[in-house]
Amino acid sequence: MQVNPICKAPSLKIDIVCKTMKIAILSQQKSLYSTRRLMEAGEERGHDMHVIDYLRCYMNITAHKPKVIYQGEALEGYKAIIPRIGASKTFYGTAVVRQFEVMDVFSANESQAISRSRDKLRCLQILSQKGIGLPVTGFAHSSKDIDGLIESVGGAPLVIKLLEGTQGIGVVLAETHQAAKSVIEAFRGLDANILVQEFIKEAGGMDIRCFVVGDRVIAAMKRQGAPGEFRSNIHRGGSAAKIKLTPEERSTALRAAKAMGLRVAGVDLLRSNHGPVVMEVNSSPGLEGIEAATELDVAGKIIEFLEKSAGPGKNRDRIKY
Ligand code: ADP
Ligand code: MG
Repeated sequence: MQVNPICKAPSLKIDIVCKTMKIAILSQQKSLYSTRRLMEAGEERGHDMHVIDYLRCYMNITAHKPKVIYQGEALEGYKAIIPRIGASKTFYGTAVVRQFEVMDVFSANESQAISRSRDKLRCLQILSQKGIGLPVTGFAHSSKDIDGLIESVGGAPLVIKLLEGTQGIGVVLAETHQAAKSVIEAFRGLDANILVQEFIKEAGGMDIRCFVVGDRVIAAMKRQGAPGEFRSNIHRGGSAAKIKLTPEERSTALRAAKAMGLRVAGVDLLRSNHGPVVMEVNSSPGLEGIEAATELDVAGKIIEFLEKSAGPGKNRDRIKY
């Protein structure tokens, strides 16, 4: 069959037009490294990129005409959004993401998945249901249960965590039963929700951040805590370097992100004697540390993923919990 060169030309042109998308990054600050890199990566690929401060958006929830209004104008024509919702702004941030979903705009991570991942306990419950390796973890509220709670994770030494902590703040290592008891009592006195966890000593203050985009781990780094520090958080003085994952670590990270319904995720693992264990799954993983440690274009991979995946009817969270 002969190809008509005249017909071919316009279809090619349409192809190029279709590939250019209007993309919103939902972020509070243009100047943040991750936001800047996503802007750059999108623009390099010819997309129309916008940073939208989601706290300044308001929503119009009228039948058949859901809208997001920003700086006095309804936001229109967006093909995809990349939510970068701050941990303390989850409630309003996810409401804005949900509004875009109602408008059938593809979200790199859906609102439900973001809310789900923000609650450490919920996260662990879902991961355990899927049989993903986790440190033995306990959670309770009644102060009468303290001894039982400590014993249920194998006794001291153990790690106690505030349910809503980030950057290593609120993560305490209790070396003895008595110390554990005092810390739990103190947190309870503040009416804080806590997790009690088996201490993975053999991790030696190192954890592994696996950066998942779609169904691939696109980058991984190890973070090592400062000498004498069991927490590997960079904010606590840890340092990062790239690392090669084992096939088991890779598949654990992918399964964890999938279980949470996240398409873009930072899955944190510890190397334990009983294989990789997941500590947390982050829905707005930072780009600065991972790009510096691995020298990979992580922002570009996220944009490429949107190019492949965005489209009407593509938001599809089906997770029960
Ligand atoms: P945050 O959300 O504040 O970062 P994490 O649960 O990630 O809290 O804990 C912070 C760090 O503490 C981890 O990166 C890890 O290095 C260390 N850590 C946390 N839980 C354990 C554990 N059960 N065993 C050993 N180290 C742990
Ligand atoms: Mg952490």
